[in-house]
Amino acid sequence: MIPPGETIGILGGGQLGRMIALAAANLGYRCHVYAPEADSIAADVCAQFTQGAYDDEAALAAFAAQCAVVTYEFENVAAAPLAAIAPHAPLHPPARALEVAQDRVNEKSFVEGLGGRPAPWAQVDSAQDLRAAVARIGTPGILKTRRDGYDGKGQWRILLPADADALDLPAKPLIYEGFVTFQAEFSVILVRTAEGDVRFWDSAENVHKNGILDRSTVPAAPVILAQVEEARALAKKVADALEYVGVLTLEFFATADGPVFNEMAPRVHNSGHWTIEGALTSQFENHVRAICGLPLGSTALAARGVVMDNLIGDDAHDWPKILSDEANHLHLYGKAAVRPGRKMGHVTRLVL
Ligand code: AMP
Repeated sequence: MIPPGETIGILGGGQLGRMIALAAANLGYRCHVYAPEADSIAADVCAQFTQGAYDDEAALAAFAAQCAVVTYEFENVAAAPLAAIAPHAPLHPPARALEVAQDRVNEKSFVEGLGGRPAPWAQVDSAQDLRAAVARIGTPGILKTRRDGYDGKGQWRILLPADADALDLPAKPLIYEGFVTFQAEFSVILVRTAEGDVRFWDSAENVHKNGILDRSTVPAAPVILAQVEEARALAKKVADALEYVGVLTLEFFATADGPVFNEMAPRVHNSGHWTIEGALTSQFENHVRAICGLPLGSTALAARGVVMDNLIGDDAHDWPKILSDEANHLHLYGKAAVRPGRKMGHVTRLVL
């Protein structure tokens, strides 16, 4: 067990790290952020900050030597250099979870191996591969970069086979996915301890706009509730197979044929931000508890329902209006520059 007072290292300097650090502070821990950018909104609320590249093994080792445990809030970090952490501090979740989750081909193969069902997919490394994939899987479909995609970035919709021929293929490893006709989208968020204790939060119904999460609602629609058990069983298999420690998220499409796996994130997730006010213990606090070996807190709902809206780009300017309604819980991430499509904060409302 890592007792309160010790230092938790966080790889990544964004809002997820910031909210992990705030939860850790409530439990009496110190946090030390490691990130490549000079400005880090996570470091703003932490005791220590190291600016370093994610592949600088000497800097990672020096950072880990100052931490009792290291976690990450960002999955697009090369896994190999993280081996420099192990001699100094445990890394939770394990680097294997990063390797699986940061590559859409690895992720889908891994989940299929555990009996999960993703959309039909094909690896694409050339224009010829893409033509073959479109011929086999059909259209509409989505071409995605295997790595580094987030919030709808690195995605191209292919409505007709001619679209594939016209596309100027990016020189990156790609994957083509058949378009899933879904009734709704939802996520399963769990926390797992080193001893294998697993708890789930209620599944939120997620609505995306332009590939970015817009709103999460709990409880989810009946069509989702009917599929949560099957989705949870898969998520637990993934967590157990990875000997996972911390919070893990799997995203699903609810379809007429049951849950279709979309993707996983080896970390706390935007669709779980509602848990800060809406659950007895938030995803951030239970992540800290799990990686420090503390007993988990209850994941039960704290209200009849919860709605979380993201504040994207200019939405953040509406904070005075948001605060004029006393029922709103406003979270701003402290980002200096407002940019279109950038996650600036979120607002949570409880249904009491
Ligand atoms: P992703 O980054 O892969 O989660 O994609 C972002 C969003 O795009 C998803 O949450 C869906 O709304 C949509 N999307 C991605 N892949 C598919 C698919 N194969 N079929 C239908 N919609 C998709």
